[in-house]
Amino acid sequence: MKKLYFIIGSQDLYGDQTLMQAENNGKEIARFLSQKLEGKAYIEAMPIVRNADEAYNVCIKATSDSECIGVIMWMHTFSPAKMWIRALQALKKPMLHLHTQFNEKLPYQSIDMDFMNLNQSAHGDREFGFICTRLRIAREVVVGYYKHDDVIAQISKFCDVANAIDFSRSLRVGMLGNNMRDVAVTDGDRVESEIKYGWNVNYYGIGDLCELIAKVSEEETDAKMAEYTQKYEIDTQSIEAVREQAKYEVAFEKFISRERLGALTDTFQDLHGLRQLPGLAAQNLMSKGIGFGPEGDYKTSALSAVLFEMAKNRNGATGFTEDYTYDLTSGSELELASHMLEVPPAFAAEKPKIQVHPLGIGGKSDPARLVFNSISGDAIAVSMVDLGNRFRLICAKISLIRQPEEMPKLPVARIMWKLKPDFKTGAAAWIYSGGAHHAVVSTALDVDDIRLFAKMTRTELVVIDENTNLSTFEQQLEMLEIIAKA
Ligand code: MN
Repeated sequence: MKKLYFIIGSQDLYGDQTLMQAENNGKEIARFLSQKLEGKAYIEAMPIVRNADEAYNVCIKATSDSECIGVIMWMHTFSPAKMWIRALQALKKPMLHLHTQFNEKLPYQSIDMDFMNLNQSAHGDREFGFICTRLRIAREVVVGYYKHDDVIAQISKFCDVANAIDFSRSLRVGMLGNNMRDVAVTDGDRVESEIKYGWNVNYYGIGDLCELIAKVSEEETDAKMAEYTQKYEIDTQSIEAVREQAKYEVAFEKFISRERLGALTDTFQDLHGLRQLPGLAAQNLMSKGIGFGPEGDYKTSALSAVLFEMAKNRNGATGFTEDYTYDLTSGSELELASHMLEVPPAFAAEKPKIQVHPLGIGGKSDPARLVFNSISGDAIAVSMVDLGNRFRLICAKISLIRQPEEMPKLPVARIMWKLKPDFKTGAAAWIYSGGAHHAVVSTALDVDDIRLFAKMTRTELVVIDENTNLSTFEQQLEMLEIIAKA
């Protein structure tokens, strides 16, 4: 079970009785929050921190505990912040600073010096906040009474993001083949990706997969076909082509398990020994949370796995998409994000159909793929690019919409959306910021989730939403360049 440590700061000055009461109050808050976050994380109250050694020990413990995904800090009383310096320098887990009180209302009739002495987070949290700022520590400050729904919602969000960061730290990405030749945006600094996000990205020859495919038994293929039949509608006479994808997926699963992977890439330029480009196989893997990026796009693959993990306790769809073509009708512009094949079935508005059609690229046999129309609703599109001296996340608010007309001759999955604040501004801002034609789209996450992830991983973030103004947006990009050079 994942845990968040609940750390209550104080000092020796108060005497045992006050300290015991402060600790018990903290335990009560931790118990309450634990119930609210049930299924996500256990909130474990730590013994009250009275001095620099205790602060250091609890931060070291949090850092080294593999079940601990983050810490919640609360200064119920005053805790002189120099005692936190060595501790915070050692802390390597995401921090939420909960600026709350044990009491909601001020007891005007009964308040006395003893009460004020115990309930003084307005005092102590400011001292703690200063040292975090002085040490340049990234953290999320949540303000309000701990039983209020908005406060619980913010803590829950932090928990999802902290969990995704924990997942990211040990994520292994397998690249079958390398980056598509000459493509710029899908490439990147894999060493820096591992330093910054923990992604261990490694190349494998496609032969490693082909060896496994050759050993897939008829029984294993039958079992995978049974899964497809249950989840999807088989809308083709070419059953052998579907069985071919079933074999690929069984082999992928073995490969993923053997190499302990959470995300994969392939490339149509390196499919020696495969009769089809993996379509249905990749789509069904994505439905289980395996990150996927085509054309060797390891960043999108890893990011899709991380964001899927972040969204795993929420309703909605999260997965890889690819921008393709537009309807430029003035005033009602739409984008069609599709791909040759690999669109995650989480976005399907109805039961997806398995079909087999030719693919105009790659020079392989006709691949089986899932065909469907998309769900509608509010979503975000997130792209990660490597600017040479830093990574940048671009997060755009979008609206998924039902396609206005059928597309009977386009036999792939289809996702359509509207840009914000309007088509021209949204598309130009995306292009100015260097956003890729690959993105992770999610109806389960929002801009605040990405903002938190960016903050905790110290990644540059630009947001495109209903308030985006192109001239200030371009100025922001200029400022970010200056800051990055400083
Ligand atoms: Mn592409």
